[in-house]
Amino acid sequence: MSEPTVSGIQFNRAEMGAAPASAKACARCGAALTSYYLAAQEMICPNCAQTELANDSATARLPAALGLGVLTALGGALAYYLFIVLTGYSMAIVTIGVAWVIARAMRKASHGRGGTAYQVSAALLVYLSVGIAWLGVGLHHSTLPLSPALLIRLLPLVVTLPLRIMEHSPLEIVIIGFAVLHAWRTMRLDIQPIQGPFQLKTS
Ligand SMILES: [Zn+2]
Repeated sequence: MSEPTVSGIQFNRAEMGAAPASAKACARCGAALTSYYLAAQEMICPNCAQTELANDSATARLPAALGLGVLTALGGALAYYLFIVLTGYSMAIVTIGVAWVIARAMRKASHGRGGTAYQVSAALLVYLSVGIAWLGVGLHHSTLPLSPALLIRLLPLVVTLPLRIMEHSPLEIVIIGFAVLHAWRTMRLDIQPIQGPFQLKTS
């Protein structure tokens, strides 16, 4: 038995309720529709679609996606750091999970938007999360007294540590490379959140 999906139900209902085409109104402003756009299953008029697209462009979505991406990268770095410290294994494979979460979070915050800026930031965040995790591990094993000055001095290591790790093991190159590439590929497509225009059937 296949259950009808929620979107399927909405679609059917919309079709069956289609008395005269002119009775259809924009879900945002209520204007009568002759042609329409679909925004999250709702029918909206071309004017509202234009406004919505202008307010919700790929560029407008970037700060939100970046913000959530940074938070997820920090969370991922913390998880990887804890994993290494608690188990004693490096297990770079965790990085792939971190990359998956970062890309997914950014996609959600971008409302499906993607493109070069998203790709570069997602890939960089995955890479840097590895560096942050390993910097944490280094500090964990270090006998130096932890101070803000020391942290600032060590911060460039976040950029170089993943390279050093990859230098030591071909497996790490493959895994970290795969993780970075996954983030890059996930953020490639710019999916328009609004589809259309569609013509209303007049018959
Ligand atoms: Zn409208």
